[in-house]
Amino acid sequence: MLPDPHSLSGPLDPAPEAGWTDAPPRMGFFTDTSVCIGCKACEVACKEWNDVPGSGLDLLGMSYDNTGALTANSWRHVAFVEQPRPAGHRSPPFAGTPTGGSVSASSAAVAAGVGNPTGTEPGVPPGAADAAARMVDGTGSGTGAGGASSTGAGTGPAATGTADRTGGPEFLGMPGAQPPGRAGGAEGRTDFRWLMMSDVCKHCTHAACLDVCPTGSLFRTEFGTVVVQEDICNGCGYCISACPYGVIDQRKGDGRAWKCTLCYDRIGAGNTPACAQACPTESIQYGPLDELRERAAARVATLHERGVPEARLYGHDPGDGVGGDGAFFLLLDEPEVYGLPPDPVVTTRDLPKMWKRAGLAALAMAAAAVAAFVGGSS
Ligand code: SF4
Ligand code: SF4
Repeated sequence: MLPDPHSLSGPLDPAPEAGWTDAPPRMGFFTDTSVCIGCKACEVACKEWNDVPGSGLDLLGMSYDNTGALTANSWRHVAFVEQPRPAGHRSPPFAGTPTGGSVSASSAAVAAGVGNPTGTEPGVPPGAADAAARMVDGTGSGTGAGGASSTGAGTGPAATGTADRTGGPEFLGMPGAQPPGRAGGAEGRTDFRWLMMSDVCKHCTHAACLDVCPTGSLFRTEFGTVVVQEDICNGCGYCISACPYGVIDQRKGDGRAWKCTLCYDRIGAGNTPACAQACPTESIQYGPLDELRERAAARVATLHERGVPEARLYGHDPGDGVGGDGAFFLLLDEPEVYGLPPDPVVTTRDLPKMWKRAGLAALAMAAAAVAAFVGGSS
């Protein structure tokens, strides 16, 4: 008999259901993709802490994504999605923020190297004063190569006088040092955006990988997370086809299944998982799942107030097809855009019904065989 009517679907607290008494609060991840900058510090920290082999430095033709997917050798995967967006689309959240030039006169002078030579040999040669002026101007309004002078509007020392345009670095239209959206007015922004998301095992409330594992290699921890013990895994691969997110993977060479452990060794010692610890923008937040869900709801409300109506949560709902995820996300577009299934369902949900039907079919066949035998002998 199943210990809980929701063992294979519906909301429950997975650690007590798995037999843990006095279990601590369920822990998990809230990944806020709206502040992800795609630095991949999480990928690197995960590999370093967990001794995960390198995934290669392949150019996949998928923007800056060079790992492609969650695999046995990539327990965190930072997806880069390039999207066309009308200029000014992201304006409302930044309404009221200063829209001045993105480069100050003094920093432009330093960048263009118009000061005295540093004495570093070989070094970048001192640049032209009007190059600095055009950096301040930000419009590239100086005359082209070979022109006599700039019309830069800067007011710093770099803006004065004409100069030799042949030496030193010049403004090439590169972005300034300000955060995106604050470097200028909407007219200065592009019609393009990146969606970045650090994906990971969802540590499902109903984890089909765990349900189908014949060796007990996969187990539910006291924190409600799902961990695979590599020394017990026999490489059968059942968990791989069972995972509704395509997370768990067999490693070429050893044949065993590998995935994120939510840093079971670290959280057991009271530490933050390596990826969350390394994230510089707190896009990956770790903590008690109930608190994270409250924080995520507040964040979505804030983004809606600031004019980002597309912000939505994914995997936070205990009523969904996997009973809610231990690792859930704030997304800025449909889940499919990030490569996530829109309506995941635990693949073992219908097992009891299937076994019941198989049993009934077996009984019917046995009855038919008996009837045929009795009918034939009379
Ligand atoms: S079913 Fe997939 S996503 Fe869910 S816990 Fe298992 S490996 Fe992770
Ligand atoms: S929780 Fe640990 S194992 Fe999981 S992705 Fe983060 S660093 Fe890797």
